Amino acid sequence: MKRTTGQDRSITAKWRPATRLVRGGTARSEYGETSEAIFLTSGYCYDSAEEAAARFRGEAKGMTYSRLQNPTVEMLEERLALLEGAEACRVSASGMAAMSATLLSTLSAGDHLVAGRALFGSCRVLVDTILPRFGVETTTVDGRDTQAFAAAMRPNTKAVFLETPANPTLDIVDLKGVAAIAHAAGALVIVDNAFASPIVQRPLELGADIVAYSATKLMDGQGRVLAGAVMGPAEWMEKSYLAFTRHTGPILSPFNAWVVLKSLETLDLRVSRACENALKVAQFLETRVPRLLYPGLASHPQHALAMQQMTAGGTIIALHLDGGRKQAHALLDALQLIDISNNLGDSRTLMTHPASTTHASVAEAIRAEMGIGEGMLRLSVGLEDPQDLIEDIDQALKAAGL
Ligand SMILES: *Cc1c(COP(=O)(O)O)cnc(C)c1O
Repeated sequence: MKRTTGQDRSITAKWRPATRLVRGGTARSEYGETSEAIFLTSGYCYDSAEEAAARFRGEAKGMTYSRLQNPTVEMLEERLALLEGAEACRVSASGMAAMSATLLSTLSAGDHLVAGRALFGSCRVLVDTILPRFGVETTTVDGRDTQAFAAAMRPNTKAVFLETPANPTLDIVDLKGVAAIAHAAGALVIVDNAFASPIVQRPLELGADIVAYSATKLMDGQGRVLAGAVMGPAEWMEKSYLAFTRHTGPILSPFNAWVVLKSLETLDLRVSRACENALKVAQFLETRVPRLLYPGLASHPQHALAMQQMTAGGTIIALHLDGGRKQAHALLDALQLIDISNNLGDSRTLMTHPASTTHASVAEAIRAEMGIGEGMLRLSVGLEDPQDLIEDIDQALKAAGL
């Protein structure tokens, strides 16, 4: 592989985000291909036995096995690290691989974790069920209440884990405020930034130590592959994350890495347009449904904080219907353009009923505490003409008796 300017941080560090998204991380083979190559290889060959031994000793440069290194995967990792402004990035097989590897590599038996209570369903299962099985104590707090984090800190609190905006309640967590509390207690701040994407919110600049993503969502953004990414300090990556993942193997396939790599070229365009569309749809919905949450609207209880931390309101809207699951399902069933789907961050607008899908594995009492009612619907706004979306939602609301 030939290093290109895309790999030279003394050059790329000066590039603006849109340039990094197109060119960051690019390395070229001997053929000088314009578009990045897919290296679908599990292993690598050596010119001599001594060369193999030297690479395994870490004395010679070069790759040894795709659980550890792969050229296509490394291009994606460098592009993401540049985009986020992080020292290091590792990608993984899914967002949950990223979240679980981050938490399992950072926490040991006897450590304590504080988490915002409104989390993606599987993240809640990790915090409530899986980590405690390995002797990690966990406490969940109302993420909207910054002081609740302070009250939950213990001498053995090793990390704080949160999502903002949170899935699907769109709670906003004060990143600067929570980072100050966590750092005063010597704890790491880990942020799941999937809902905002690095285009809309940059947690490292607001005090977070580690940012993790489901790259399945806005990064691929076209509903094709599952992927995850983790970014943070080089030392943590080497001593914690890689010490765990090198031997547990939650790595991303080079093919899926290539799909996400190419998707990043249009991330800024897609996310910016989807946010504009979401705002238009939210403005319409505000006139039609009794309760609606969208961080970009003044009616969101944490709108001011959201606009301090985010450059736009995001692509997700939550609406609450008074008629419970029956009315929510009736609205979904009446949609003609928007799909019923629990994916999000797609170029297609998608709607789901969290209580019976994404958060069905979370106990009903915890769902209620998180604010996920039976009448809640989550709308992920995509790239269609917003007027078509508005007309589809309008007719579906009427069909559901609204
Ligand atoms: C989807 C999602 C995840 C999980 O990611 P997968 O790629 O589906 O494994 C984690 N956190 C948030 C906020 C998500 O939206």
